[in-house]
Amino acid sequence: MDRDVLISEVGPRDGLQSIARIMPLAAKIHWIRALAGAGVAEIEIGSFVHPKLLPQMADTGDVAAEATRLPGVSILALVPNLKGAERAFAARVPRVSVPVSVSESHSRKNTNMTPVEAIGQVRAIDRHRRSLGRPRLPGLEVGLSTAFGCTIEGAIDEDQVIRLAEMAAEAGADSVGLSDTTGMGNPAQAKRLFTRLRGALGEKAGGAHFHNTRGQGLANVWAALEAGVRTFDSSQAGLGGCPYAPGATGNIVTEDLVFLLEAAGFRTGIDIGKLIAARAILAEALPGEPLYGHVPEAGLPKGFLPAARMADRGRPSVSAP
Ligand code: ZN
Repeated sequence: MDRDVLISEVGPRDGLQSIARIMPLAAKIHWIRALAGAGVAEIEIGSFVHPKLLPQMADTGDVAAEATRLPGVSILALVPNLKGAERAFAARVPRVSVPVSVSESHSRKNTNMTPVEAIGQVRAIDRHRRSLGRPRLPGLEVGLSTAFGCTIEGAIDEDQVIRLAEMAAEAGADSVGLSDTTGMGNPAQAKRLFTRLRGALGEKAGGAHFHNTRGQGLANVWAALEAGVRTFDSSQAGLGGCPYAPGATGNIVTEDLVFLLEAAGFRTGIDIGKLIAARAILAEALPGEPLYGHVPEAGLPKGFLPAARMADRGRPSVSAP
């Protein structure tokens, strides 16, 4: 499948860990299958953290056993440290994502480590994955959380973001992405930071992870596209929300992101009709949970053509610098 942009669905991890109730294992698997069936090419299926901290994620190993068997979809899981990575690789998860917070306060509060100590975990995970002797080296990516601002510290020094990105790449990460964990970013900042990241890391510059806490998510996507970013995290129905901002989604909404990209001429490989249909699984498994998304509410506009069917119109309309 020819694809211009890779959408990485993080709902089963970021979405489900942000709501208090626990989605049953069978429903998680049903949902992940439906996402894969809609053409979603990458899914973050959960996280390997202590079940006391996040009981919603306690069954990630069982989810992995099913999800890794799905054809045509790349699976990854979030791990906060070496211990999590050992569990993930033992469960045959082919790729892990390690969050490293740029904000010292956020890092200590969430992981009891400084950012530099978290980079040490990345180095340890890299060593561990190489020691496994697998025919295919498991993947290791890093997401720099609070890269656009921190609820405790406020503004984050952009030089420090780039310094940590370089350290993470040097510690062995295959790629390093930037996360607007707190939904504080704006498009000018997104374009600036991703341009710098790509300049500093080249091939190892990773994707964008935006939250829509203040409604800037899709504007930030467009700005990152202009900086050359071609991988975006999002969550079906914007699951998770924001406890401090009623009406605000959690991650940017996958359905709206697919619409933005396809309408603008970027092929995602996702069938938006099938994607929207998969919301029914969430509605049934999590009754009463708010499901966000403008496109599912309004419907596709008359005459809508996905990017793959508009080749003669000249796409894509934003090219990498
Ligand atoms: Zn997030």
